[in-house]
Amino acid sequence: MQTVRDGKAGDVRLMQGNEALARGALEAGVSVAAGYPGTPSSEIIENLAKAAKDSDLYVEFSTNEKVALEVAASGSFAELRSLAVMKQVGVNVAADFLLHLVLYGTRGGMVLASCEDPGGLSSTNEGDSRHYAKMMEFPLLEPGDFQEAKDMMRWAFELSEEIRNLVMVRSVTRLSHASGRVGLGNLPEKKERAHLNVEGPPIGQMEGPIGALPVTLNFMHGRQQGKMRKAAEIFEDSPYNTYTGPDNPELLIVTSSSAWLYCTEAVDLLNAGDRVGILKLGCTYPLPPKLVTKHLSTTDKVFIVEELLPFLEDNVKTLAAEMGAALGHKTFYGKKDGSLPSTGELNPDVVMGGLAKILDIEPDASLAKYSEELEQVVGQSVVARSLTFCAGCPHRASFWSLHNALELDGRYGFMCGDIGCYTMGISPAGFGTLKSVHAMGSGIGLASGFGQLGQFGLDRPVLAACGDSTFFHAAVPALINAVHHNAKLVMVVLDNSGTGMTGFQPHPGLTYDAMGKQATPVDVAKVCRAIGASVTISDPFDVKGTTDTLLDLLEQDSGVRVLILRQMCALSPEKKLKKMYEVAVDQSICLGEACGCNRLCTRVFKCPALIWDASAGKALVDEVLCAGCGVCASICPSGAITRKEVA
Ligand code: SF4
Ligand code: SF4
Repeated sequence: MQTVRDGKAGDVRLMQGNEALARGALEAGVSVAAGYPGTPSSEIIENLAKAAKDSDLYVEFSTNEKVALEVAASGSFAELRSLAVMKQVGVNVAADFLLHLVLYGTRGGMVLASCEDPGGLSSTNEGDSRHYAKMMEFPLLEPGDFQEAKDMMRWAFELSEEIRNLVMVRSVTRLSHASGRVGLGNLPEKKERAHLNVEGPPIGQMEGPIGALPVTLNFMHGRQQGKMRKAAEIFEDSPYNTYTGPDNPELLIVTSSSAWLYCTEAVDLLNAGDRVGILKLGCTYPLPPKLVTKHLSTTDKVFIVEELLPFLEDNVKTLAAEMGAALGHKTFYGKKDGSLPSTGELNPDVVMGGLAKILDIEPDASLAKYSEELEQVVGQSVVARSLTFCAGCPHRASFWSLHNALELDGRYGFMCGDIGCYTMGISPAGFGTLKSVHAMGSGIGLASGFGQLGQFGLDRPVLAACGDSTFFHAAVPALINAVHHNAKLVMVVLDNSGTGMTGFQPHPGLTYDAMGKQATPVDVAKVCRAIGASVTISDPFDVKGTTDTLLDLLEQDSGVRVLILRQMCALSPEKKLKKMYEVAVDQSICLGEACGCNRLCTRVFKCPALIWDASAGKALVDEVLCAGCGVCASICPSGAITRKEVA
């Protein structure tokens, strides 16, 4: 099996951005890597885990991002190079420890890789964690392409050791998940050994107790700010800040990350290379003041191109204001004046639109025509479909039973949701069963609060849903809160035996870890019982049994009742292609359009493997897509769907 370890210095490999980031960490001699899976970050830890055996490396998917940052920090405190990996929302989870960590600083080089999701392609928000660098005072690097992803990751460890503080490397989906050519460097031959010095004065950077106290806080904060000044000096000469274009451009673009490539393409398409200069910053916080002001002084018009919030725009404007009259008046374009949209991803077309307006250029009409034709072709050849659960997904069956039980109960019970594939329970795919979706663990946290509102007249049954990985990540403290405060609720753990949404990364409930080593499984049911909740376990594929169990639990109407709906994800490696049932529609029984519930199976239950046979006017099972869960046989009111156990 090829891993990111393979290949020697000078080789060129096609690498995904996350592979390049992992390779860069290996070239830097990383010893400890920890993260929590989340798109688009997961492949960094996965790739390091595959390379761990031959790299003298410890890798784990931690319970959550804060724990991952703490595990990685322990390596740094022991003077080993360490990496923490997460997506943008994970940085919020880690933020509490992060604030303390960057105040004290690090020993061995330490990098936080944050992979972000402009446009929320795989997220329920598009948070911008660059602001943490400013708010908490640590350096921020943003690679612009695949080669830089590898090289800057490697350099980030060196920088961290030079200033003795954490460095954030920020990627975005289009870098993390696209692929490009990467020239490889050397891998270190020998690793450092752990060296932990916690004896000595309380303000030592490399010795003494690790952390700040009220009496040492001022000293440490001053030391941290000194590190930031040093980082800014180093950034002045960084090769990752580049300029291309005329000496005195009519318009200066200041950009970073993948937006740099969009700018390059947009300038090219508008044939504006002789009018526009591009200052690409790889080191985006703190800004290198001399470098940026030198380029600002070459023009009167500045266009700042970045994704998400106007972070770079605000910082460049602040710097220009600080320079005052010396720099002269500048006109800034960017997100704040509407030259670029304030939300969502950028692309070359969007940047070209803003650029053409500023430069008063009419874009080549053939480009617009090309986009129109492309949209037409895509519209004709790609089938439009809404987000839904996979064929045989246990969540569809779970939500079917949950929805029906709530309807049968008749007291307008409602369910708070959480983050995972089952988030789709808020949409028609999950029959609109979930009524809230926020952060990891927030479903049970909100339910814990709603469960207390009886005294104010909220007497509807309260339920919460979370997945097994989410249970360990953030649901346990809220569950403890609910039990301790005698909240009245039913918590449903949708246990599909893995972190399904991000690709089956292990979690504490499983018997193996990220490196494939045997791990001690933590039992969800035992944890819940130990907390003091009652626990019932049901198979969601048993639709009637699950619905009846839920009705019983709803009827109990007191205390915290946990229902674990346990069935492995249809796409899990253990289950994939293994059918429990051969399933077929007996078209002689199927009522078709006359079916009491308006084609219940294909229009309401909507398993993608249930299709409509237009010529017969009846339902049909697509044998290729069908995962053989057998659930549809339980929902057809006419008994037209048959299932036969696979021997
Ligand atoms: S058995 Fe029915 S519900 Fe299950 S995957 Fe096949 S068609 Fe879908
Ligand atoms: S298979 Fe059953 S649910 Fe589907 S259309 Fe026929 S009768 Fe209706």
